[in-house]
Amino acid sequence: MSAGRAGFELFYEQKFAENTDRIMKEAIDLLKAPTIQEEKADIIIGNGHLALQLHESVGHATEADRIFGMEISYAGKTFVKPEMLGKYQYGSPIVNIYSDSTDPNGLGYHPMDDEGVPGKKIDIIRNGVLVDQQTSRHIAHMLGLEPSSNMKGSYADDFPLVRMTNLCIAPGTGSLDDLIKSTQKGYLLDFTKTWSIDDNRNNFQFTTEIGYKIEDGRIVGIVKEPTYYGITKDFWNACDAICGEDEWGYHSTFHCGKGEPGQVMQLSHGIAPARFKNINVSVKS
Ligand SMILES: [Zn+2]
Repeated sequence: MSAGRAGFELFYEQKFAENTDRIMKEAIDLLKAPTIQEEKADIIIGNGHLALQLHESVGHATEADRIFGMEISYAGKTFVKPEMLGKYQYGSPIVNIYSDSTDPNGLGYHPMDDEGVPGKKIDIIRNGVLVDQQTSRHIAHMLGLEPSSNMKGSYADDFPLVRMTNLCIAPGTGSLDDLIKSTQKGYLLDFTKTWSIDDNRNNFQFTTEIGYKIEDGRIVGIVKEPTYYGITKDFWNACDAICGEDEWGYHSTFHCGKGEPGQVMQLSHGIAPARFKNINVSVKS
């Protein structure tokens, strides 16, 4: 299911009637589906979950107020250091991640942030390398960067904080079907069940609702609530394929929490399914 900033047409795009039978069958099958054994596997992550992986392990990690310890409530630190800018291999060379507050199709759209910086599209990770940060005017100056138009308060009487807007993975090539066909052995994991990531946004564990088992390029069954875990840098460097524009869409949240007193923010992630090689997959005990 995708969601962005639009009218009622978004509701129809979900194709509820066409998907109802499949979802009912999957829900029933999941009741008796096997759980996974601990193993290393190639995993494709679907759009129903990849947005959260991006949000927690790249989005929050590259909010630069965290570098300086300005906002450490709610797992509010980061492993990112100023000296990593321009050289840190955050992901594999196919990973391009950008912040774009200029796109009106995402919930993070604004003409101007709460410091008066016009909306901007900037690369955060280019060809796998960390090149920029989400910043305020003050923090950008401390890092020798241009302000990125990411300062927002939830309401007029809230102090603005560095917040994600539309944080997106640039699409690669090919369809999800192509990606499954080119996977010898692994899983397509989708739909978030639980998540956990440390204060520095480095060591994570996610459980999805369903795993579609892949053998020789075909889905051969389902497994219940597979968990995968890893370290942010190793995980994004294990990305060897990202689907193309036809699979790309916005997934959104209304509840990104930050700060104390707490503020919530609406934002979107543009994503396409992606494959990650040799990831630890397990079952949550
Ligand atoms: Zn958040």
